[in-house]
Amino acid sequence: MVFHAFLIKYAEIAIKGKNRYMFEDALVKQMQIALSKVEGEFTVKKEQGRVYVFCPEVYDFDDTVEALLRVFGIVEICPVVIYKDNGLEQTKKDVVEYMRNRHPEFKGSIKVYTRRAKKSYPINSMEVSAQIGEALLNEFENLSVDVHNPDMTISVEIRDKIYVYTDKIKGPGGMPIGTNGKAMLLLSGGIDSPVAGYLISKRGVKLEAVYFHAPPYTSERAKQKVVDLAKLVAKYSGPIRLHVVNFTDIQLYIYDQCPHEELTIIMRRYMMRIAEHIAREDKCLGLITGESIGQVASQTLQSLAATNDVCTLPVYRPVIGFDKQEIVEISKKIDTFETSIQPFEDCCTIFVAKHPVTKPNLKVIRRSEEKLNEKIDELLETAYKTIEVIDID
Ligand code: ATP
Ligand code: MG
Repeated sequence: MVFHAFLIKYAEIAIKGKNRYMFEDALVKQMQIALSKVEGEFTVKKEQGRVYVFCPEVYDFDDTVEALLRVFGIVEICPVVIYKDNGLEQTKKDVVEYMRNRHPEFKGSIKVYTRRAKKSYPINSMEVSAQIGEALLNEFENLSVDVHNPDMTISVEIRDKIYVYTDKIKGPGGMPIGTNGKAMLLLSGGIDSPVAGYLISKRGVKLEAVYFHAPPYTSERAKQKVVDLAKLVAKYSGPIRLHVVNFTDIQLYIYDQCPHEELTIIMRRYMMRIAEHIAREDKCLGLITGESIGQVASQTLQSLAATNDVCTLPVYRPVIGFDKQEIVEISKKIDTFETSIQPFEDCCTIFVAKHPVTKPNLKVIRRSEEKLNEKIDELLETAYKTIEVIDID
């Protein structure tokens, strides 16, 4: 069956009062971006509290739905068949025809739901529904009407033309990108941080990312893996500016100067400081990490507090209460899992101590960091100056 359009339903946006237009416009814009990657000219239109995608004569249905399934803010996607408005008698025939083509085997209860966007239409919605319902009952043997709990709702919208749909494809939900500012994701090659980025961008937040690279201890392949992950997340979040920081000299300096059981915490504190510095320069309103309480030594409450201590921007940790398995499930759903589990070293695992502190004392950590006073500012300056920026589309 050929669908001429998609009706797009959005819930959370609709309740936003006067902000509604801003949200709808952002949704339309994100849909246009998503559809620009699908072959054919699609038109996205806002009409009387609804958003429609009008399709070209020839297009790939699956590609189109797949693109729309990545647009945050969409709750439901309904493929629509559009008929000319040649009066109610013809519409009855058209809906019968629609059912014959779309649901030839259907048995069960139906409800016809009519919405009259064109108020000049001479018959009211209830009457239209009743008449179409009757026409369907006359035509198909195995149908009954149940207006309270139908097995299938047949929606008929009367506009300049007649729109008919029954199917509902569940969308990703959330809010359109661009409605909630921008945040800086600390993106490693692991499972957790891509999921964290996805979850925050689902709330309408645009992403930038920072990756701490430690050549030659971490390879080009490890960096490529992070670029690949950023590309996968960007399929949902839209373009991501990825900042690759050369972290080697800072790590080696920490390794030389500080107690080894504190290495991870001190390293993580420098990661957060650097991420925050870049975030502020690029007007990001927060940081995002894939930390989850208790997952590793550096993610006990004491360790998280010690890491958080150096940040003044809010740090968003959307998977903080998730078990690993729950994070894995999301990473499979968003298609980052297979890339995340590729076996490339990451910069933390190389400098990790045999027995890292699990309950770091903030005063002790701060004192250890004083041992870095001589050279650390200079090393940070160099790190900032040598950042490689990769724009991921
Ligand atoms: P992930 O699966 O996201 O790598 P993890 O379980 O390996 O997380 P850690 O290595 O302790 O946990 O890292 C915690 C968080 O710190 C990560 O989720 C990520 O946000 C950030 N992070 C760690 N390593 C890096 C890195 N090399 N570059 C950028 N961010 C990093
Ligand atoms: Mg990691």
